[in-house]
Amino acid sequence: MPIVMKGSEVAAAMKEDMVKKVSELKAKGIVPKLAILRVGSRADDLAYEKGAIKKMADIGIECEVHELAQDVGQKDFEAEFNKINSDKSVHGILMFRPLPKNLDENAVLEVIQPHKDSDCMCNANIAKVFSGDLSGYPPCTAQAVIEMLDYYKIDLTGKRVTLVGRSMVVGKPLAMLLLKRNATVTMCHTRTKDLAGTCRGGEILIAAAGKARMITADMVSEGAVVVDVGINVDENGVLCGDVDYDAVEGKTSYISPVPRGVGSITTSVLAKHVLRGAGAQFN
Ligand code: NAD
Repeated sequence: MPIVMKGSEVAAAMKEDMVKKVSELKAKGIVPKLAILRVGSRADDLAYEKGAIKKMADIGIECEVHELAQDVGQKDFEAEFNKINSDKSVHGILMFRPLPKNLDENAVLEVIQPHKDSDCMCNANIAKVFSGDLSGYPPCTAQAVIEMLDYYKIDLTGKRVTLVGRSMVVGKPLAMLLLKRNATVTMCHTRTKDLAGTCRGGEILIAAAGKARMITADMVSEGAVVVDVGINVDENGVLCGDVDYDAVEGKTSYISPVPRGVGSITTSVLAKHVLRGAGAQFN
């Protein structure tokens, strides 16, 4: 049977470290704080927000939610953003995207203080990820995959890693983080020919496509490590990943489930980034 990579175990290990950091910061008179900026009330955003609030409380990070109406104008949106961005008591910002179509996000992404950019929205942090500079703040989900592989001591050096998905939120930045660990990365996407064969070529297979159970047993090599980033709802309304877990599990050496896999680590990475932001602001 494979080892099931549980997000809760990774998050618990990360928490230990972060609780120590919180007390170090508090000893210096800094109370770490995350500000969440949400426009409208999309169900996905509200679910993530609830998880983020719970995680911050659990670690000892303050959290404030700034909620704007779906039809807020550009001027009021920017004013609220700038208030948070210049507030010295705030060390990290999570802004839900995509924003409503009438809002221009570039106006705020050009001014966000990089150390408050906890989920890698601005060019300065994106450039760091893509140039292999680890001093920035990579996207939380991409970093969560690395945290999971590290926790389970999956050595990446020289390994063939096949990654399905090339979005700017997960696939591309994750490829950069994997390269930084000297993995041999192959990226797949909707135009990839022989997707099954390319996936089988991976000693480590990471699915981030957003297609329910698209990774089937014939796409997985014997003994592979399989990480599932996808969060989907299937035709029966059941939450599932991109991997057909029941069919694939038997072939793997390690596999992450959905739910309770990578998704459970994302808010821990967010918390880690807020703490780094607080340290950076202090220094
Ligand atoms: P996206 O739609 O922006 O990108 C999907 C990528 O997968 C694209 O590059 C596309 O080319 C590729 N793709 C789609 N269908 C494919 C197919 N049939 N074959 C090959 N490639 C295919 O999605 P995203 O924002 O990168 O998210 C990907 C998945 O990860 C989603 O299920 C999303 O819900 C999930 N996600 C999870 C977390 C988390 O916290 N665990 C965070 C963000 C996203």
